[in-house]
Amino acid sequence: MNAKYLFLIFLNLSLLNFSISAQILVKIGIRNDLKNIKIKISEGDYALTNGNDSIILKKNDTIILENNYNKLSARTGIKNIKGDSILLISTSTNGIFSTIINNKLIEYEDNAIFYPKNNTSINFINQLDIDKYVASVILSETYPNLPYEFYKAKSIVVRTYTTYMINIEKKHINDKYDLCCTTHCQLYKGKCNNQTIISACKETKGMILVDNDNLPILAVYHSNSGGLTNSSENYWGKSLPYLITIKDEYSTKSKNSTWTYTISKDQWLSYLAKHGIDSTNKNFENATNFYQPIRKKYFIDTLTLRKIREDFNLKSTYFNIQDEGDKVIFKGRGYGHGVGLSQEGAIEMAKEGKNFNEILEFYYPNTKISYFNL
Ligand SMILES: [Zn+2]
Repeated sequence: MNAKYLFLIFLNLSLLNFSISAQILVKIGIRNDLKNIKIKISEGDYALTNGNDSIILKKNDTIILENNYNKLSARTGIKNIKGDSILLISTSTNGIFSTIINNKLIEYEDNAIFYPKNNTSINFINQLDIDKYVASVILSETYPNLPYEFYKAKSIVVRTYTTYMINIEKKHINDKYDLCCTTHCQLYKGKCNNQTIISACKETKGMILVDNDNLPILAVYHSNSGGLTNSSENYWGKSLPYLITIKDEYSTKSKNSTWTYTISKDQWLSYLAKHGIDSTNKNFENATNFYQPIRKKYFIDTLTLRKIREDFNLKSTYFNIQDEGDKVIFKGRGYGHGVGLSQEGAIEMAKEGKNFNEILEFYYPNTKISYFNL
């Protein structure tokens, strides 16, 4: 079983390795509903190909792609190419191209792959080196000027999550790419220009977190644990030895450590009644005075805290409820699902002088660092 998974991982990683150097490339879905797309080469040399025919492109050359009933056409100033798929391949080490997405000019690195979608739309995929991708995700999901050891820890987490998604979970296997560019997978906004983050990724090159079977872990993360991380069992109903509840003092001092939410008691009681919790329920007396000293899965009976969080758009599932006459007040801690690494806690650890190893050991117990690309 383990050997089979490992074989699959290495097979998969080696299949991705087709570029000019020994890179691991990842395919990120950018948009699949574009009616046309205009690309401009910003840096380096490129080849545009449909598999048979190709055109060499240089800096400042442009391409306009359209889908005519599932046949793609690419117009350049030199000649036109048609095909079932069209690839834009960087033939120099640092190829960069730009395009406008959502009215914003965005630069992308390395390659692009285009497929026709639904007769008239285009599926645009950016295929790039995993470390360039990891750097961009870190900048897209955090901020500049955070501690260096935090960026190193975060780069291993993002790389591990990416490897897990590609080789184990395969969420987007039917979409022709590995991960999408939204928070559904990881936020990705194109080229990262932050040199500190780029060098943190280089220093941790190839490092991923693995479990006792040497498989990449599900390296989930969130904004703030509120002082106690959540278990994967509590949130997703799946128990994992490295996603367990941990007391986390590092997450008690930052901006998302606490929150409150107030609603009328009538609204709260009618919501509970809809879920079978009314005065006939044996636990009803706790319905407006709920105490959660350690993170729980259920509010009362089968109603999960996660369901309440989603229905009321609460910041977390880690809350108490206080009866205040005609109102109930949710007094909450943390932001996000609370499972795995707390980003604000990890930043605090780095500020207090902890290194990336200590941060990862703290938030992902029972794991170790391994390498997938030496
Ligand atoms: Zn996704």
